[in-house]
This record gives sequence, structure tokens and C-alpha cells, in this order.
Amino acid sequence: MSSAPNRDQILYDEFVSRLQTRPSLMAVAPGRVNLIGEHTDYNDGFVLPVALDRDVRVLFNPRQNRRVRLYAVEFDAWAEFDLDDLTFSEEHFWSNYVKGMAWSLAERGLRLIGIEGIISGNVPRGSGLSSSAALEVACAKAFMAAANQLDALPGEQIAKAAQRAENAFVGVNCGIMDQFISTLGAEGHALLIDCRSLEYQLVPFPTGAALVIGNTKASRSLANSAYNERRAQCEEGVRILQSVLPGISALRDVSSAQLEVHKDLLPSIIYRRCRHVVTENERVQSTVDALSRGDLAEVGRLMAASHASLRNDYEVSSDALDAMVSAMSSAEGCFGARLTGAGFGGCAVALVKRGQEGAVRDAIFEQYAKAMNIWPEVYISTPSAGAHILALD
Ligand code: ADP
Ligand code: MG
Repeated sequence: MSSAPNRDQILYDEFVSRLQTRPSLMAVAPGRVNLIGEHTDYNDGFVLPVALDRDVRVLFNPRQNRRVRLYAVEFDAWAEFDLDDLTFSEEHFWSNYVKGMAWSLAERGLRLIGIEGIISGNVPRGSGLSSSAALEVACAKAFMAAANQLDALPGEQIAKAAQRAENAFVGVNCGIMDQFISTLGAEGHALLIDCRSLEYQLVPFPTGAALVIGNTKASRSLANSAYNERRAQCEEGVRILQSVLPGISALRDVSSAQLEVHKDLLPSIIYRRCRHVVTENERVQSTVDALSRGDLAEVGRLMAASHASLRNDYEVSSDALDAMVSAMSSAEGCFGARLTGAGFGGCAVALVKRGQEGAVRDAIFEQYAKAMNIWPEVYISTPSAGAHILALD
């Protein structure tokens, strides 16, 4: 009986058939899910993401010139360009992440050489698990390895260069979390990131737990305008609170006790937005403490509290996300669940007892599909390795 070829073999064969030669190297960079710490990044706060066992891969050979030639398997398209002529492509949007990465690495003084190869990923695209950061970071590793400069930049600089590629070259506004976890994640760990100082710390993830991610497949059309509005509301909260707390420069600097004392200064909606951010930062710290004690029930409670706060105070949930979280939470073995990402659609994440992943998946397919009339997708994962390079022969 022959077994189905695995992904490694399929990609290797794809490379050989597209390029008529063998690949020598493969860059791998994972997608991510944020365990807790939502809408805290732009408030100079804390986030706690995990790298997934889903990734974007670049199989490649270095070239002796400055031309880049890459085939994107999922888009069935080639892009070819010169490192000395990096211009935005309307035709192959995905290639802008590659070009942007080359551009921002060059900006940091790396001397690049051309590569040829294929790109393929199994991070769902456009679902909030950050396939874009995975693509950027995989390309960063590929360019650095090809030029024999893998150690030229520390992980946090790679992450910053990738964020710059997405902000300034691709033209998509995003924080630093996604590129950071994709670069610096580690198997069996979550990553606590201080979005102000960019200090970070790996936090061991209890071996008795797994993550189940439910993709609502619901439209995220409201997300952009709401995101900008929430940011503005947080800034207004800071401006008002500065009249009594002159030392603060972001909601990160405000404790929930201080917020309660000065509550009457704030319009009610601004107060609720601030309360989400301030309590969410505190929940991230509490989650780190609970993880270090192996107290999964407490982590689950904190995730449920995060979801309630995002729904009631920050108002970025949706019927689909609430239905997903409720389906997950009803299943045996689920410690807690919450929406993850900016909100209004995308994914929810559940912390689940190992061995009970199937029960949570079944509950999602039964209850969510019935409640929303949408067929969801479910991904089961444990915290996985950050970006790396593998030699293929
Ligand atoms: P998310 O990061 O949440 O998955 P984005 O809209 O930020 O969603 O990024 C998705 C884009 O990233 C895709 O439209 C594509 O341009 C690029 N991308 C992601 N994965 C791949 C891939 N496997 N191959 C080529 N491009 C990809
Ligand atoms: Mg993205």
C-alpha cells in the first residue's frame, strides 16, 4: 500500500518540475495566533502570541546575479524582478511582499543576491493568522541565507524590517506582533512581547494543552473603519487622562485602579474602550503567571474574560465570532475561548485539554454551522518553531 506523499515531497517535486533542477535550501516561517492581548499593541501594551504549525515556505537556490524568479504555487503565477529595480506590482500582489522584504533588508545594509525558487504556504490567507508576515519572514530568511548573511541581523531587526516592508512597500498598516512571533517563536512556547520596548520573553506552554482555532469565514468588511475609530478613541482617552495623570503617554501607563478613580472625566464610550485596553494588559500579565503555574483553568477564564471585554466594552466582536466562541466553550475539555485578531470576523482561539481537540472541533462544526449557516474551518495546533532555514541535500 502506498501512503500519500507528504507536503515536503510535494513541494520538492513541484520545484523540480518548475525549475528543472533541485532546490538546495528551504526557508520556513510560521503563521501565528494571539493567545491574549487584543488591541493592546497600538496602546504600547503587551501581547502573547504563539507560532502555529502552519507556515509559508520558500524553496530556493541562490543565483550568481541580482535577479529574483519565484513561482507562487497557490497563485499559479511567476514573478520575476531585478533587485536593482524594485517596483510595486499591481498584477501579482503577493510579489510585493517579496520585493518589499528585499527593499527593507537592503535599506538595513544587507548586500543581497538573486534567488530562484517556489513559494507555498498552508497558513490560510486573509483569515487573521498572518500569512502575510509568514511570507515576509520566510523571504527575509531566504534572502539572508542566499547572501550568506544569516547572522547579519538579530531576530527583532528581521521582524522590524518585515513590518517596514508591509507598511511602507506593500502599503498595509500593521503592528509588529506578527513579524515578531513568526521570527522569534519557539516550539512549546508563547512569546510575551512588550510593544513599547520590544523586549520579549518566551513563556513555556503547558504540554497538557493544545489550541483549536475556528475560522468563522465571515466577512471582515467592518474591521478597517472600526480599527481606526478604536485607535482614535484610545488616543482621546489618553489625552483626557493626561490632565490628571501627566506622566502617561499611552493606555499602557494606566492601571485599572487609576482608571476607576478618574472614570467621571471620560465620556462613557471612551471609558469603556479604555477599560478594555487597561484590563486586557493586566490579563496578559495574569495569563503569563497562570501559564507558569500550569493553571490552564485560570488561563481559560482569562481568555473568556478577554472575549467578554472585546464584545461588551470594545465592541469588536460579531454574531459569527460570538457563535464560534460559544460553540467552542460548550465542548468538554475547552478551558476558554476568545476572538483573536482585530475582530468582526476571522478566527477565534480555544485553549483545550490535549486529547479533547476532536470534541471541540465537532462542537464547532455542529453548533457554529447551524447557528450561522456558514461552513467554518478548524485548525488544531500546538506552539511551534519560529522561522528557520533547512538544507535540502
Ligand atoms: P493574513 O495576513 O491575515 O493572512 P493578509 O491580507 O495580510 O492576510 O495577507 C494575505 C496576502 O499575503 C495574500 O493575499 C498574498 O498576497 C500573501 N500571501 C500569503 N500567503 C501566501 C502564499 N502562500 N503565496 C503567496 N502569497 C501569499
Ligand atoms: Mg496580514
